[in-house]
Amino acid sequence: TRQTLVMGNWKLNGSKAMVAKLINALQTAATQHPAVAVAVCPPVLFLGQAQALLTDSPIALGAQDVDIHNEGAFTGENSAVMYTEFGVQYVLVGHSERRTLHGESNAMVAAKFATVQNAGLTPVLCIGETLAQFEANETQAVVERQLQEVISHCGIESFAKAVIAYEPVWAIGTGKTATPEIAQNVHAAIRTFLASLDATVAAKVQILYGGSVKGASAAGLFAMADIDGALVGGAALQADEFAAIISAG
Ligand code: 13P
Repeated sequence: TRQTLVMGNWKLNGSKAMVAKLINALQTAATQHPAVAVAVCPPVLFLGQAQALLTDSPIALGAQDVDIHNEGAFTGENSAVMYTEFGVQYVLVGHSERRTLHGESNAMVAAKFATVQNAGLTPVLCIGETLAQFEANETQAVVERQLQEVISHCGIESFAKAVIAYEPVWAIGTGKTATPEIAQNVHAAIRTFLASLDATVAAKVQILYGGSVKGASAAGLFAMADIDGALVGGAALQADEFAAIISAG
């Protein structure tokens, strides 16, 4: 049995005041639901503040992106090794906004995945199809291509220490959540694809759903056999909504 993981991706949102308020509010929800794993990914500028607030907390910290280098002349970047000093446990790689707005290829995402694991952290590999690909029935081919690049680069066994987040691009920030059935079908296909290479790894890996998850839609998603949690954007910025998603877990 896989533990439910509810992860908040704050994207480019927050302030010192907001970090303090939101994290304090979430502590209660996380403490009341010890069976659910909870994580938040604030902008890197707030990791230090969040780390201090989360001392002795069950809430884990994540980062939203990473460079493929650990140090050097790479202006503006942040490294996985640096994250380890801030209590970071998870690092998102390949979020659709990085792929679209920053031109990240599957190869780049695979290199980031490897860098995160080499630093001893857990990559959260974000995959998912665009609306055009969804309408053209290409979902399975797209997610398999996204997974295959990481498998070729890091090996199937690398998924023993990783999380997958299936986020259909058409559901991100649009209010259009995939139905539990649509999401379950893709999650099951992802797991079957991984199982064709390593059944043990496939059975263990947590596959999160992301895309307009709210308190009201979470329980239906979490009830599906292959949906092991959520990667939450907008609703992660509202303490009551995020708490409701945690309670559904
Ligand atoms: P929304 O929950 O705002 O749709 O964002 C989903 C997402 O991209 C999480 O990474």
